[in-house]
Amino acid sequence: MIEEKKCVICGNPFVPNKYRPNQAVCSSVECQYQRQLVNMSGWRKKNPNYFRYKEARDSSWKETCKNRSLEWRKKHKEYLKLYREAHKTRHCNYMRDYMREYRKKKKMNENQNT
Ligand SMILES: [Zn+2]
Repeated sequence: MIEEKKCVICGNPFVPNKYRPNQAVCSSVECQYQRQLVNMSGWRKKNPNYFRYKEARDSSWKETCKNRSLEWRKKHKEYLKLYREAHKTRHCNYMRDYMREYRKKKKMNENQNT
């Protein structure tokens, strides 16, 4: 039997997760968000150099992002090609029908005029 605890943020009683009996915050979204903020600030104080370190590595991180999007594009290139091909065919058909209609109307007008 797990004992009810009082949330350190909102003060409401809650039953801690059985896998995390030391849980001090209830599972409401608001409280979890607050807990994350607290965790972050505490963690930042403990690791003040982390973000400087990360900034130094930022260029390589950006490179990773670029490569990832390239990878994505490579993967989807075939798909995009197929899509464009299908689109082109559809567009051609549309234009052909449109021109057919256009010529038909033109002819009708010409016939009316004569
Ligand atoms: Zn709470």
